[in-house]
Amino acid sequence: MTHAADTIAAIASAPGAAGVGVLRVSGPQVPAIAQALLGRAPQPRHAHFASFRDADGEAIDHGLLLHFPAPASYTGEHVLELQGHGSAVLLDALLRRVCELGARLARPGEFTERAFLNGKLDLAQAEAVADLIAARSQAGARAALRSMEGVFSQRIDALLQALIALRVHIEAAIDFPEEEIDFLADPAIARQLDSLRAELAGLLREAQRGLRLNDGLRVAIVGRPNAGKSSLLNALAGSERAIVTAIAGTTRDVLRESVALDGVALELADTAGLRDTEDEVEREGVRRAHGELARADAAVLVTDEEHAAADLALFDALPAGAERVVLVNKIDLACTTAHAETRDGIRWLWASAKTGDGLDALREYLKQLAGAGAGSGEGAFSARRRHVLALETVGEHLDRTAHALASTRAGELAAEELRQAQHALGEITGSYTSDDLLGAIFGSFCIGK
Ligand code: GDP
Repeated sequence: MTHAADTIAAIASAPGAAGVGVLRVSGPQVPAIAQALLGRAPQPRHAHFASFRDADGEAIDHGLLLHFPAPASYTGEHVLELQGHGSAVLLDALLRRVCELGARLARPGEFTERAFLNGKLDLAQAEAVADLIAARSQAGARAALRSMEGVFSQRIDALLQALIALRVHIEAAIDFPEEEIDFLADPAIARQLDSLRAELAGLLREAQRGLRLNDGLRVAIVGRPNAGKSSLLNALAGSERAIVTAIAGTTRDVLRESVALDGVALELADTAGLRDTEDEVEREGVRRAHGELARADAAVLVTDEEHAAADLALFDALPAGAERVVLVNKIDLACTTAHAETRDGIRWLWASAKTGDGLDALREYLKQLAGAGAGSGEGAFSARRRHVLALETVGEHLDRTAHALASTRAGELAAEELRQAQHALGEITGSYTSDDLLGAIFGSFCIGK
């Protein structure tokens, strides 16, 4: 069943002088529009060479016409694809003609929205279409492709089935109040819940990795003034983006740089030297640096042998679970060579931002953290922040379910928590969504998708 009754059209490829221009049309009017343009009914999924004519029979362009009949199409509706010369003027004229024949201009993301509404894609898959188009790294694009193919959605569905099975079990117990307590004390229920929580924890970790692949790993570079933070940012970014000077406190604001390290996206932020200061502008910089740390996936502390121990306190502003790296910089001035150690679970690297000595180890480590280090990219899928937040919500409900079952054997409470967990999971794939959410998701697409 299709939900939308009208026919939409949009230019689906960026017109370029030498390229092919593509116009996409979807909706019930497509067969009539195709017939009008071709002069006869097109064969399904057949490339017809045609001259596209305006209302007066004047040729607009020559090109290929393809008809994908409903429901075996991207949107699930009748879809028409017109391929002409990649000229903005010609494509515009062709779009006008198609609109005369009964289509209207599509809104951003409307083709994919229809694919979602017609059950061709679930919401996570539809979002992956946009992420694939926007991918800034090869690893990100590969991950988005897997999500679009449904790898992430299948994992969500498997979790959903397990959750429903447990819910059924517990709700059945509630229906027999005399035996409820015995029912709920059944070790099988505890086992089911345990495996559900373990499965969720694994999926959450993978989704967090998917988020990093999608958005890029957010790395904050911290350290006292003059430690070499800007020099490090420049060395990683390969440009002179941050101003490097020998006057303490020059990096007053937060400088950001997007870096693609061998196909992995990193969002680097060079923060102000974190020290107590009277200077108004610098204080603002320090405040922002703390904000930057609070939202970072990882922090690189730039320091030297003398200050390293004291500087470790700068990691305190990081969220739990964020990765920490200590970079002992300026080894070219010290009697040390580039090397690495792990101390108390923190990676320590000795390097020189100035000469570049030892920085490859840092690059490799950051790539690994971003989820695409050597051999770790297998099967990775992309995810969005809202997916990760939803999975965290599911986790909270499962924790409360466990508590309700263990402490009070409160079946009603446990069942309610599971119901809410199911709801949060369903939001990821779109079984439960508000129109506002759909509007926000599809509104961020480009036109023609
Ligand atoms: P920030 O204040 O932490 O951003 O530090 P900068 O990157 O501005 O560097 C401060 C000074 O240290 C500059 O003069 C840099 O050239 C110098 N510097 C940075 N890294 C190194 C290094 O590895 N070796 C040497 N010899 N000097 C460095």
